[in-house]
Amino acid sequence: MKRIIFATNNKDKLREIREILADTDYEVVSMKEAGLDMDIVEDGETFEENAVIKARAVCEAAHEIVLADDSGLEIDYLNKEPGVYSARYLGEKTDYHTKNHILIERLAGVPDEKRTARFVCAICAAFPDGTVKVVRETMEGRIGYEERGENGFGYDPIFFLPEYGKTSAEIPREEKNRISHRGKALRAMKKELL
Ligand code: IMP
Repeated sequence: MKRIIFATNNKDKLREIREILADTDYEVVSMKEAGLDMDIVEDGETFEENAVIKARAVCEAAHEIVLADDSGLEIDYLNKEPGVYSARYLGEKTDYHTKNHILIERLAGVPDEKRTARFVCAICAAFPDGTVKVVRETMEGRIGYEERGENGFGYDPIFFLPEYGKTSAEIPREEKNRISHRGKALRAMKKELL
């Protein structure tokens, strides 16, 4: 078994990557399981930059293969806001119900065709020899007019998927993993690792 550290303690992300790498000889451990506790300043201007910053920093400390991801929501009408600030938008402590309502208000009167948005996920693999591999995938959709659905998290209740006629909080978890920015990026990274 080859070991990979995933630079996260998020249980859902760990479960997803473990499921995707289950048929390989990679074992994935969290930061905690690797005995690491680091605060990394993600000050990149793009998702790719932040994923590289995180993966490199952990790899330099651990001397093992490290995966790191960065993701967020880009709304075209708002010049791609909240973008790399998605988690920090209106402050880390503001709940998503409030964030979602304010985004809907900022799009008041904006017609369907201008409400385009996407979730983006960049994943970086950093290797002890200093090399990195980066992948980026998206899930395209539109910002809805109200929150809908109980699945998912974050901005999912306002992220409308036209081909389903539902938000990403209304489709089952397995279906979202199949089409999501993160699911696609994890599978693209798997190809890079094999
Ligand atoms: P991080 O990559 O875990 O730091 O996530 C950044 C932020 O982007 C999250 O806190 C959410 O606000 C948002 N985000 C990323 N992916 C999703 C998703 O699949 N659904 C809803 N919100 C998401």
